Amino acid sequence: MTIGVLALQGAFRAHRHKLDELGVDSAEIRLPEHLDDVDALIVPGGESTTMSMLLESSGLFDPVAERLTAGMPVFGTCAGLILLSKSIEDGRADQRNFGVLDVTVKRNGYGRQVASFEDELTVCGVDEPVHAVFIRAPQIVHVGDALEVLASDHRGDPVLVRHGHILGCCFHPELSEDHAIHRLFVESTAY
Ligand code: GLN
Repeated sequence: MTIGVLALQGAFRAHRHKLDELGVDSAEIRLPEHLDDVDALIVPGGESTTMSMLLESSGLFDPVAERLTAGMPVFGTCAGLILLSKSIEDGRADQRNFGVLDVTVKRNGYGRQVASFEDELTVCGVDEPVHAVFIRAPQIVHVGDALEVLASDHRGDPVLVRHGHILGCCFHPELSEDHAIHRLFVESTAY
């Protein structure tokens, strides 16, 4: 199995590093033809408006959307979660999203850069607490009934959600020491 990491902008290298450490093959996705060789996709954190623009200019938006509709497993982190979401609050009018994960996210819902923070999360299916880094994170303000909430923040708001092969989180799992969240995604691609 090879996991593609969308490599137009943002934290894609750190995701590949995590996958390397787990012994999982990965590939950078910059052009539509790169999708042919991958079985799953990570959409990293960064800036969702910029990524939306680059998805259009690279010609990747529609082919990614098609693969997602066909059931390719996908993991969106932070800006990646915004791109997967069904609905965005405080987005830019021209930003596009794939709409495959039934959540409403509020961009920068946890505040600006200065309000970035770290937290220890209890995650369903993971024994140890998971260290989570939030950077200008989106806040999940609505979760569809069919979704599982795997972790919530100290206020009780969901920060890690799953719907079948689709995983999304508000934080940056590629920036902490452990591999728990990447392992969850890799395991979920096996079904
Ligand atoms: N606030 C960013 C956005 O709107 C996301 C931040 C992140 O990915 N760290 O895209």
